[in-house]
Amino acid sequence: NLTTGEKIAAKLGARVETRSVHAVSDVSLEVRKGETLGLVGESGCGKSTLGRLIAGILPPSSGRVTIDGVPVMTHGVKATTRVQTVFQDPFASLDPRMKVGDTVAEGPITHGLTTRADAASYVAEWFRKVGLDPVWADRYPHQFSGGQRQRIAIARALAMKPDVLICDEPVASLDVSIQAQIINLFLELTRDLNLTTVFISHDLSVVRHVSDRVAVMYLGRIVELGPVAEVFGTPAHPYTDALIGSVPKLVLDGDELVRFETIKGEVPSPLSPPAGCFFHPRCALATPECSRDMPLMRPVAGRAEADTRAVACHHSEQLVPG
Ligand code: SF4
Ligand code: MG
Repeated sequence: NLTTGEKIAAKLGARVETRSVHAVSDVSLEVRKGETLGLVGESGCGKSTLGRLIAGILPPSSGRVTIDGVPVMTHGVKATTRVQTVFQDPFASLDPRMKVGDTVAEGPITHGLTTRADAASYVAEWFRKVGLDPVWADRYPHQFSGGQRQRIAIARALAMKPDVLICDEPVASLDVSIQAQIINLFLELTRDLNLTTVFISHDLSVVRHVSDRVAVMYLGRIVELGPVAEVFGTPAHPYTDALIGSVPKLVLDGDELVRFETIKGEVPSPLSPPAGCFFHPRCALATPECSRDMPLMRPVAGRAEADTRAVACHHSEQLVPG
């Protein structure tokens, strides 16, 4: 439960109470100051749940999330404004009856970052930073395009001066041309403001573009973690390999050449995860050990530190030899 000065750290499990399953289990993660950590995985893998846990929106059933040692939640209630979130759908997250300037000003006034008297110039400053004309502060959400609304949502989050920003699929609902603009804005802001960011996306090319490190999730667990270029360049987990494998791979079966499907099989139900490695029913490298023993995160072969590059697979040496 962790943490030294400049890090946010999470060690937790989340139980979806209604169904009594762990949506996220045994996750242990540190995000370093100023970095963008990408969180990827198929839909339902728990990446949004993990984002909500880190943001203090959802209480973990065990474990805790801290920023510089200070818990994000106390007694199941969000206890800090140091984490802010940008969601996928900016229209749903903006109050349609409120002028967007008031929406951006609300939190900073409540938390003393500005006063009611100074709010207009405070908001104007944030509007400019996200590429919006400050005169639009008096307009309502429906008067903006999707991309502009996401800029407003970003301004609202950043106006709270967070140390940590959680972005959950922030460009997934936008047109492709607008996606690029928002991503460029995001890159500019994270650099200029030295933000620490967790960037959740199912889109690997987006994650690759914005992240310093990446965590790959499968059925509520992190299965691979490391610098983004290394994880995507030489994946150590068969799931990561399959996830990025747009090029069909050829493998030998006896002396017959067979095609290795990108990812065979369905994602198992989190209600009844398979024994051992959760990925074994879909894994081309699975052995009897895999269906018996759950692999734990360990350093990738040849690496000294677990936090440099880590993987949860019994046979990762087959992908990344030491
Ligand atoms: Fe595949 Fe076994 Fe590694 Fe799981 S532990 S990913 S089943 S090789
Ligand atoms: Mg999601």
